[in-house]
Amino acid sequence: MLVFKFGGTSVGSAERIQAVAEIVEAARARGVVVVLSAMSGVTNALIAGARSAAEGDERQSLAIQADLLARHLGVVEELLAAGAERDALREEIVARLDGYERLCRSIATLGELTLRGNDAVASLGEELSTRILAALLRARGTDARAVSATACVRTDSQHGAARPDMAETRRLVNRHVRPLVEGGVVPVVTGYIGADARGVVTTLGRGGSDYSAAILGTALDAEEVWIWTDVNGILTADPRLVPEARTLTVLSYHEAEELAYFGASVLHPKTVAPLAAQGIPLRIANSLCPEQPGTLILPEPDPERERRPAIISTQGLCLVGVVGQGDGWSLLLASRALRALAEAGLDVLMFSQSFSERSLNVVLHREEREHAIHVLEREFANERALGIVARIEAQAEVATVSVVGMPNGNSAPTARAYAALGALGVRVVSIGQAASEYSVSLVIPEGEVARAVPFLHRELGL
Ligand code: ADP
Ligand code: ASP
Ligand code: MG
Repeated sequence: MLVFKFGGTSVGSAERIQAVAEIVEAARARGVVVVLSAMSGVTNALIAGARSAAEGDERQSLAIQADLLARHLGVVEELLAAGAERDALREEIVARLDGYERLCRSIATLGELTLRGNDAVASLGEELSTRILAALLRARGTDARAVSATACVRTDSQHGAARPDMAETRRLVNRHVRPLVEGGVVPVVTGYIGADARGVVTTLGRGGSDYSAAILGTALDAEEVWIWTDVNGILTADPRLVPEARTLTVLSYHEAEELAYFGASVLHPKTVAPLAAQGIPLRIANSLCPEQPGTLILPEPDPERERRPAIISTQGLCLVGVVGQGDGWSLLLASRALRALAEAGLDVLMFSQSFSERSLNVVLHREEREHAIHVLEREFANERALGIVARIEAQAEVATVSVVGMPNGNSAPTARAYAALGALGVRVVSIGQAASEYSVSLVIPEGEVARAVPFLHRELGL
């Protein structure tokens, strides 16, 4: 049995979803379980609409709902011929997005978006994409069924970062998913989500569909787990920035884990550990070019194989600062800020705190910026009045560039990376070092990524 996970870009349009169906059909004889993300941008839009509702801007959330409806119905129109299957799918999509509208209205009435409410809205994107792919597969003659992970991935109730209960999940997956595969049906399971013991929907964290695939793969004792994305596996750099970047063809679990930890943009950091525990191979492949070999992650790769560091870049980030004044700044304020952000379900990628400047800087996804500022303003309203916190401000638009090395003798790339950026005249805004000397994350202005990454790639001899 194989578990195939397709990310947001792989299901981002009717054309891409067709390509996914072809990939699934080609492997079907081996028994395939599909795990799907929402169409690209959909989860962000769902959350943005709910936040607007909480702030009293119902018009904005209705506009987002209308956009999502048009986008999904448009894809259905392109993929399916008129008929009963298409009508049923349209109805399902309309009903789900009506549900979204009702949720937004209650959020607007309450004037608050809880983490539980956030999960209820954020989970809808996967509920829609899975139904579309399952219907398309059926229309093409492959028996397929959409399966909501709320029925088979049991988690705790920590909304926004739920942890799976693996024993219960294994039991549920083997009851609800395995029999489908054994009966010749392709289950199309929602990534990213689960449900707690009371059946309340939870999410595993942003980008969590990779983790869902690992959870299902281990629960099913799958032969292999495949993460299908829009590049040829993990490369020495993002091929959009460095066309000559080379694919890392074989990695150990340990190496892949380090890459995921520092370069979460390619692989969710929790994905590798459960697979490593059971020795299940993980592949990263390109849904745009399925014939490319991609990256294979194995328990015991050949120790003689060539190993190279990789540069993983994440764009679309921003820096938000909490700036203190006078003598009142303390570590306690920094920890309160981080806690308030976590409790609001905001993902802090990195942070740095400076005593000399009495400030805390956090790195967040750019679409979270306004919400983060709002949360911090609320948290520190009193400190603002007391003059301990001078301001909360949006700072630079940034990107992270992580250099993840391999402990194989070639000199630690991290110092070289830092020096190279200095030589190029790129300002390093902040830096995060791993416990090992092999990996480092550098925060640089977004506008510098296009020249910094190719330069680093050359300097590090990749
Ligand atoms: P998905 O939507 O499939 O989950 P992601 O956007 O999460 O895909 O991750 C894949 C993206 O990671 C690629 O499109 C690429 O732009 C980016 N990326 C950054 N650095 C690298 C790298 N070194 N190797 C491969 N991809 C990279
Ligand atoms: N759709 C979710 C997100 O955008 C999960 C995923 O794509 O992995 O975060
Ligand atoms: Mg991803």
